Amino acid sequence: MNRIIIFDTTLRDGEQSPGASLNKEEKVAVALQLEKLGVDIIEAGFPVASPDDFNAVQEIARLIRRSGVCALARALEKDIDIAYEAIKAASEARIHTFISTSPIHLEHGMKRSQEEILTMTEHAVKRARGYVPDVEFSAMDASRTDIEYLCRVIEVAISAGATTINIPDTVGCAIPSCWYEFIRGIRARVQRFSDGIVLSVHCHDDLGLATANALAAIEAGAKQVECTINGLGERGGNTALEEVVMALKVRSEHFKKDTRIKTREIYQTSQLVSQLTGVAVQRNKAIVGANAFAHESGIHQDGVLKKRETFEIMRAEDVGWPSNRIVLGKHSGRHAIGARLEALGVHFSTMQMDRFYLEFKKTADKQKEISNDDLCALAQTILNQ
Ligand code: MN
Repeated sequence: MNRIIIFDTTLRDGEQSPGASLNKEEKVAVALQLEKLGVDIIEAGFPVASPDDFNAVQEIARLIRRSGVCALARALEKDIDIAYEAIKAASEARIHTFISTSPIHLEHGMKRSQEEILTMTEHAVKRARGYVPDVEFSAMDASRTDIEYLCRVIEVAISAGATTINIPDTVGCAIPSCWYEFIRGIRARVQRFSDGIVLSVHCHDDLGLATANALAAIEAGAKQVECTINGLGERGGNTALEEVVMALKVRSEHFKKDTRIKTREIYQTSQLVSQLTGVAVQRNKAIVGANAFAHESGIHQDGVLKKRETFEIMRAEDVGWPSNRIVLGKHSGRHAIGARLEALGVHFSTMQMDRFYLEFKKTADKQKEISNDDLCALAQTILNQ
C-alpha cells in the first residue's frame, strides 16, 4: 500500500482560529502528543508572527525527533531567515513558504502582477533551499487560480528546489468532483510530479467539504494531506486528521493507502487539543465527539449488543475510546436495559422486568439519560414492592 503523508497544522492554522491560541508550554505539549500519534510533519507555527511563536517553534524543533518539524514563512527573505532560525535544530526541518496566486489576491491583497509573483516564488524557494533540503511551497488561494498560471508557478517553485507542492483551497470553496479534476489536471500538466515531487492539498471546511475534498485529492494523486486535530482552523476549520485517517483505514479496500498514524492515540490527542485550546468538540463530531460511538435507540442497541458490526463501522477502542457506549434513555429497548441491569448485579424475574420497564420509560420521558445510579434506585423500588 502507498503511504499518505500526514502533515498536521493544528499548531499553525488551527492555532490561528479565533479563541484557540496556545502559549509555548501548551504548544510543546500538543507537539509531543502529535509525535506520539505518529504524524509525519508537525507545522509548529509561523515564527515571524510573534516572539512567542518563534520560541515555541524553536522549542518544538529541539524536542521532536520522530516527526519532521515545519515553520511557515511568507515568500519574503526576512520570514524565511527567521523560520530557519526557529527550526534549525530539528532532526528533519522543513521550511514552508507561500504566496498568493489568484487574481483577487494579486489585485487586492498583494498588488503584484503575475510575473512578479513568479519572481518572488523563485527567490523565496531558492532562499529556503539554501537553508534546508526539505522545502514546501504553497500557492495561496490555488482553488481560485487559473490552472495554466498555477502550473507555471508550480514549475518555477520546483525548478527553484521545492520538494513538496501544496495546493490550498484557502477559502473552502472547492467541491469534491471539481477538486478531483483540478488536482488531476495539475498532476497531468506538471511532469516533475512523477520524479518524486510530493503533491499536497490543504482544504478548508467552509462548506463542510474539507474531508471529502482531501479524499478526492488523494484519489487524484495527492501524496500529502494537511489537516488538524478536531478539524480546528480558521473559520469553519481544516480537514480533520482523524476523519481522513479513519476513512483511509475503514475503506482501505477502496483507497489502498495507509498512514503512519497510531489510531489508538486519536482520542487522547483530540481531548488534549480541546482542553488546551478551550475549543469544545461538538457531541456529534465524527470519530472524536461524545456521541461518535454512543447508541440510544432500542433497535441500534439490540443490534450492537448482538453483533457490534450491525451499526458500527469501526471499533471505539481502535481510535482510543475506552469502549462504545450504550446510552440508556427513552429510545432504549429491553435488551440493552436488561444487559445493563445484569452487569449491575440486578437479576429480575420476567414479571419484575415488565414492571421495571414501565417505570424506566416513565422516568426516561422526564430526563435525557438514565445513569447507573438512577437504574439501581429504580430497581430497588421494584424489588421492594
Ligand atoms: Mn489554511
